[in-house]
Amino acid sequence: MTILVDMDDVIERLLARLVECTNEKFHRNATVDQVTDWDIIVAYPGMTKKQVLDFMFEPGFWMTVEPVPGAAEALKHFMDEGHEVYIVTASEYEVINEKMTECLFRLFPFLSWDRVIVTRRKQLIRGDVLIDDGIHNLEGGDYKKILFTAPYNRDYDAEANGMIRVKNWDEIVRIIDGME
Ligand SMILES: [Mg+2]
Repeated sequence: MTILVDMDDVIERLLARLVECTNEKFHRNATVDQVTDWDIIVAYPGMTKKQVLDFMFEPGFWMTVEPVPGAAEALKHFMDEGHEVYIVTASEYEVINEKMTECLFRLFPFLSWDRVIVTRRKQLIRGDVLIDDGIHNLEGGDYKKILFTAPYNRDYDAEANGMIRVKNWDEIVRIIDGME
């Protein structure tokens, strides 16, 4: 199978790090749980999106982003099983170099650049399954849709929209192993 995997907040914890950085610099105490909308600013009234997202462009930021538990083991497992694994990310072009070197290849050293697809139109990519936390990336895609649960998608009726909601990588492994 060809397994397509989103990067931010599916295999690494970008949002958690952005919230930490923003709280520290702007003396706030928001939690990831309060980010109930795709727009992170919902947890930071009175601030601009740029103030929060600009941390991504600071030198060394991507060195501090942590992995989602179980993601590395699961991706390695799928590759060992003979599946094709591709990271499909809508990353900002300005951060690609740092993000790949300091985050993706640091946390997942068994992946390489030929396993990465950068696009904002994931529906154009062909694969058997896409694991993503963004509803907009799953809707309309010609792949099996696994929605990685997050505060900003928790009120969405995944099942009614043909998606499988999961809360961790153990569940993903069970589903994909069952698809074979
Ligand atoms: Mg994501």
